[in-house]
Amino acid sequence: MSEAGRAPSGTSSGRGHATSPRVELASTGALRQTMDAYYRSLGDAAERGAAPVAWCSSAGPVELLRAFGFAVHFPENHAAMLGASRTANRYLPLAHAQGYSPDVCSYLASDIGANLAGESPLSAFGLHGVPQPDVLVFNTNQCRDVRDWFEWYGRKWSVPVIGISSPRAVDEVTDADVEGVARQIESLVRPLEDVAATRLDGSRLAAAMSASRDGSRLWAACLETAAQRPAPFTFFDGTIHMGPAVVLRGTPEAAAYYAILFAELEQRVQQGVAAVPGERLRLYWDGMPIWGRLRALATTFADFKTTVVASTYCNSWIYAELDPADSFRSMARASLELFIARSEQPKERYIERMVAFYGADGVVFHDCRTCSSNSNARYGMPQRLAERAGIPTLVLDGDVNDLRCFSDDQSRTNIEGFVEQLTDARAAGRERSRR
Ligand code: SF4
Repeated sequence: MSEAGRAPSGTSSGRGHATSPRVELASTGALRQTMDAYYRSLGDAAERGAAPVAWCSSAGPVELLRAFGFAVHFPENHAAMLGASRTANRYLPLAHAQGYSPDVCSYLASDIGANLAGESPLSAFGLHGVPQPDVLVFNTNQCRDVRDWFEWYGRKWSVPVIGISSPRAVDEVTDADVEGVARQIESLVRPLEDVAATRLDGSRLAAAMSASRDGSRLWAACLETAAQRPAPFTFFDGTIHMGPAVVLRGTPEAAAYYAILFAELEQRVQQGVAAVPGERLRLYWDGMPIWGRLRALATTFADFKTTVVASTYCNSWIYAELDPADSFRSMARASLELFIARSEQPKERYIERMVAFYGADGVVFHDCRTCSSNSNARYGMPQRLAERAGIPTLVLDGDVNDLRCFSDDQSRTNIEGFVEQLTDARAAGRERSRR
């Protein structure tokens, strides 16, 4: 998993794109301020010693890190910035030359490559590179790659790499699963106390849990506005506006931003403002974003009057059930119940529910070349959804960061064909109901 956070150039950033038929959000200004303040605080911690620095995988136990007062860097956010700025392909060969296969996560490879090149998009915020960590904390609930990725940096800087080895492909989350992961999270406390040179304060942990839950609930409310017709918000908007849900999870700043965004989206709903004017079709996106082609894809779908209304990706940062009174177990349960950690059946049922909730006409599966963990078209799911639930599906080949795996022309042709198929099916349905 991952995320962009700050509106990157070349995507729908609210800076105004004369060619885009999409309607930009005014909240983007507040988003930029929120994200800029986050990056500046990271710089203060790393370069002026204002706080100890922890790195965290995007689905890691960040609330625990907040309770210790760590400034938290998310390498997946950094990698997504490399993808969105279309610089990732410059860095991939540097990691490949170090023995990281072109088949492993292109987030990992581009991030390590950028480090080897001594370059970072964080320089735009006054940092001299990624903030050097005091500790790196992973959770393998999403994939093994995050651990391998963090261990490269752990070796480079001789800093501790600790984390949770989570069950994967989970059918039903059992109490035993939850207990096992909760004990692993608890076992992180002592090493974190050593690094932070302070004892865990239960009230600070409870505050981080509450902030995480409150921010999540507001983020979920923003996403759910897209169930309205026309949708005021798209998956492509979500990839930009999810920044605070990721990098500020467990802080009051995330909830403060989503209150602003939600107010604007509510207003759009009341006024009937469509994110894609003239919306005719609605689709659901499964899988990773293609960061370097977000704007191109958003424009292509909008050209066909098609709104990509929701995604498993943006929904993955909803931790609405966190319980400050039962921190370790509720963190464990949330991490196990994540879509990406589940087996085929619960994933399939989830997508079916989302398609119904958002009134989607079909599903686009992104088959991400270097992320098998978040590519769900490889074991027959699109066919099963089509046959069992009558949900039309399209599989797009691409990659999260390696743009050599993506063809603009081929994708546009495939999207156009899918839109025609859905339009014809709708016309045939109308014809049948007239008879
Ligand atoms: S392998 Fe996939 S889920 Fe894991 S870090 Fe890379 S993009 Fe994210």
